[in-house]
Amino acid sequence: MKDNIDDEAIKKILLAGKIAGEAREYGAQIVKAGRKTSEICNAVEDFIRERGAEPAFPCNVSINEIAAHYTPGLFDDMEIPECAVVKVDVGAHVDGYIGDTAVTVDLCEKYEKLLEASREALNTARKVLRSGINLYELGKVIQNQIKKRGYKVIKNLTGHTIGRYLIHSGISIPNYADRLSIVIRISPSTLLAIEPFATNGRGLVKEGSITNIYSYTGKRPKGGLNDAEEKVLEIIERRFRTLPFTPRWILRELKIDKETLERTIKSLQARKALHGYPVLVEAGRGIVAQFEHSFLVLKDRVLVTTEVSSNT
Ligand code: MN
Ligand code: MN
Repeated sequence: MKDNIDDEAIKKILLAGKIAGEAREYGAQIVKAGRKTSEICNAVEDFIRERGAEPAFPCNVSINEIAAHYTPGLFDDMEIPECAVVKVDVGAHVDGYIGDTAVTVDLCEKYEKLLEASREALNTARKVLRSGINLYELGKVIQNQIKKRGYKVIKNLTGHTIGRYLIHSGISIPNYADRLSIVIRISPSTLLAIEPFATNGRGLVKEGSITNIYSYTGKRPKGGLNDAEEKVLEIIERRFRTLPFTPRWILRELKIDKETLERTIKSLQARKALHGYPVLVEAGRGIVAQFEHSFLVLKDRVLVTTEVSSNT
């Protein structure tokens, strides 16, 4: 039986996945104590561009109890601390077809068991993933791997289906046995990301005070824009569409001072043209590990699009 997705789209999905996977491995290699996160993320994002894709969202390097959504900002640029546990989460897209993948680096190898919990949860999910599986079953196998090693799943972080130019295209993939999702099944020709988060903390994230990632809501503010707002929004609409971006990227395209850019972003956010993604911090200040792959689920097989084969 033929899948309801054309070969051209599959090709682009596989290419984006391959580049994202290679960028993930490269990012993991250059995470070192004392290095600036801007140095790491600029290098990872350039790596993606040099291979003919575009970043599908800003390179995330989320440290220790920060579970997700940290990318260096215009004025803050964290340094990787000694013995940090760093989640390197990268995305690449080719013509809007996305690969989304993450790995955790444990610089002093003090949390190997925690990393193993998340890694094995992803591995086990991968073995059972198939067209028709319900999300309760999938969540249960993920949770079991983490629970049996003595850790908690972060319940309010999930995997997700992926659409064209859309990181989250509507269906969340829970990392626990969520009874509400027993009726939801993976249909064929679905691109999705699975990303189990394991922690020694409370198993929940809350929003932190830093926001360096935004996306366009598609709604131009009513009542006119000033010159800076007009220019910034034009770049966002043309270059990033509805994909998440970071103000660092606008500096690459527009001659504008950082203060004006910061003010413009905040005003576009206040006027509902932009949506912000604050950093997500573990509620009990626990250490967080995350591993993630993107999968293309077809009628009778599943492709791991972000896997990097060891012989390349
Ligand atoms: Mn990701
Ligand atoms: Mn994801």
